[in-house]
Amino acid sequence: MKAFENLSPATFDEAVELLGTARANGEIAYPAGGGSDLLGMVKDELVPAPDKIVDLKRIPRLDRIHFSEASTEIDGLVTVDAIASDEGVRSRYPVLAEAAAAVGTAQIRNTGTLTGNICQRPWCWYFRQGFSCLKRGGDRCYSVTGENQQHAIFGGGPSFIVHPSDTANALVALEAQFYLQGPNGHRTVPAAEFFVLPSDSLERENVLDADELLIGISLPSANADRPGAYRKVMDREAWTHAVVSVALTLDMDGALCRDARIVLGGVAPIPWRVPAAEDVLRGRQITAELAQQAADAALEGAQPLAKNGYKVTMARALVRRSVLELSGAA
Ligand SMILES: Cc1cc2nc3c(=O)[nH]c(=O)nc-3n(C[C@H](O)[C@H](O)[C@H](O)COP(=O)(O)OP(=O)(O)OC[C@H]3O[C@@H](n4cnc5c(N)ncnc54)[C@H](O)[C@@H]3O)c2cc1C
Ligand code: SF4
Repeated sequence: MKAFENLSPATFDEAVELLGTARANGEIAYPAGGGSDLLGMVKDELVPAPDKIVDLKRIPRLDRIHFSEASTEIDGLVTVDAIASDEGVRSRYPVLAEAAAAVGTAQIRNTGTLTGNICQRPWCWYFRQGFSCLKRGGDRCYSVTGENQQHAIFGGGPSFIVHPSDTANALVALEAQFYLQGPNGHRTVPAAEFFVLPSDSLERENVLDADELLIGISLPSANADRPGAYRKVMDREAWTHAVVSVALTLDMDGALCRDARIVLGGVAPIPWRVPAAEDVLRGRQITAELAQQAADAALEGAQPLAKNGYKVTMARALVRRSVLELSGAA
């Protein structure tokens, strides 16, 4: 592995500047949070070898969670473990705490940042094995006729990756806002608009421009204190990405569902919100029959590949069971 220089910015401003300067000099530079995904990709030569890594974790005092009446503000370097274990997040935003607790291993949760988790690259088997597929500038997607057991049943084409981040699904369900900082200043993007489909871009999985960083996350208080749950099915007991998952929040008045947010994970290149299923629940008393109708609506329009039709059945059952359990109607 080629040696690279590790840069320690003092602020996100400086990090953006360091990335821009390196690239203007023709060097390859990447930002790193915990480095748990990036350094593996560098080591396995899955990305061009860097000249510089801008180590965001060296930026001081940006690892806190701030609660206020209007919102909860999450600094850009808060770890996944801090999200999973923080009492305030657990009580106010249980869907996010559960999603964070479902990420990988304790070591990854301790090392990885929430922002890095959201920006992690795809885990498609072909991509991670170094195949020269569409995502790597090649001319074909190997999953279309190959081993597509883990691939997308919604939103696929021309690449059929699934978004790997557990926390991203919860953040879309909570209608979080993402703070971005780049050479041209700051912008705020709703979580639901942060992720991009392969039909919009093959090179990237989100709207971040070159040298732009995800520097923080805001959770609206309007969506706090609602029952929420993150349910995940894996192909082994632990330490791995979702085969399918569901991030669910319900706003209940007794047995009546005032409102619902349902986001599927492991099924699409982006967190896949299913408004049709939310519509089924809204304003109705939750029963086993209604939960089944919502589950059917959630999976309507799925387009499985040759070997991943099982995801439709699995996700449908997961939505049904999660709605029943969380509403107390089980
Ligand atoms: C064995 C294993 C199991 C795993 N299981 C799961 C799982 O079950 N669920 C799950 O969600 N994830 C899982 N992961 C992925 C893991 O959670 C991520 O590697 C980790 O969260 C990434 O965080 P990080 O801070 O280390 O990111 P890094 O590795 O530092 O960065 C990840 C990517 O994002 C970019 N980046 C980092 N920070 C920023 C930023 N602030 N702004 C813009 N770009 C940035 C980097 O350049 C890099 O491309 C697993 C990983 C492994 C190795
Ligand atoms: S799904 Fe995407 S990453 Fe996987 S082989 Fe196809 S183009 Fe490559």
